[in-house]
Amino acid sequence: MSENILEFKNVVYRYESDEDGTMLPPAVNGITLDVHRGEFLAVLGHNGSGKSTLAKLSNGILVPESGSVSVKGMDTSDEKYEYDIRKTVGMVFQNPDNQIVATIVEEDVAFGPENLGVPPEEIRKRVDDALRAVGMYEYRMHEPHKLSGGQKQRVAIAGVIAMQTECIVLDEPTAMLDPSGRREVMDAVRRLNREYGITVVFVTHFMDEAVFADRVAVINDGRLLLEGTPHEVFAREKLIKEAGLDVPQAAALASRLKRAGVALDENILSVDEFVTSFKKLLRN
Ligand code: ADP
Ligand code: MG
Repeated sequence: MSENILEFKNVVYRYESDEDGTMLPPAVNGITLDVHRGEFLAVLGHNGSGKSTLAKLSNGILVPESGSVSVKGMDTSDEKYEYDIRKTVGMVFQNPDNQIVATIVEEDVAFGPENLGVPPEEIRKRVDDALRAVGMYEYRMHEPHKLSGGQKQRVAIAGVIAMQTECIVLDEPTAMLDPSGRREVMDAVRRLNREYGITVVFVTHFMDEAVFADRVAVINDGRLLLEGTPHEVFAREKLIKEAGLDVPQAAALASRLKRAGVALDENILSVDEFVTSFKKLLRN
């Protein structure tokens, strides 16, 4: 599957200063990046590196000053594609409370497809399917504001997939959640990617979440610093640290132990890989 669902070509974006209307330095500064259909791409970068700007450029919320962004070949700066682009790429943001629009979970999830003019019986089915897909079906009659942060984010995700978007861009969806909420959201998103084939762009500053991705893109000062598999990217420990980031905890611990003479395997990133390698040592 070589088809790209998203293509960023030399994208530059600058905000205007609120004070005097002058243009600020580029928030995104010449990024070229493809997102392949069906993949799980993690986007990493420190605070202010340009991740949210890149996310908003992906479905035309923002349009580039120069360069281009296309969604399945549709240029986001071309107004005639606006509707099709929004239907193809959905967004989930950081704050779960800002994304809830209704007072009952299932009404909230129905909001998107209603706006698309989907017939009522079809909406019913899509809402149920979407809520099942994120494990929130039994909460369909609940009041969203009484849910936990992780549950609210899963409802927001259901709202996006009820529009049958092929790609979902999540901008730090776990940043405001506790560890169990983070895990719930991460599990739901991984499932959507694996079982439903939905393309995922997952913006995060948690290294441990990037370990699950097919590919990682590291953004620094509005530029693409590194791109590759999690193993390729996190092997560049020095560059990662220069970008103000850390390597995943399991990787950091493994490399400390290796420096201390413990014969662990190369390229350990996840806790699972750490445990497997450690068990092998104990057996010898
Ligand atoms: P990240 O999501 O990685 O924290 P952002 O894309 O939000 O980064 O921000 C990139 C740069 O653009 C930062 O320097 C930030 O201060 C600036 N910026 C973001 N939003 C605005 C805005 N609405 N107006 C002016 N500057 C902004
Ligand atoms: Mg951001």
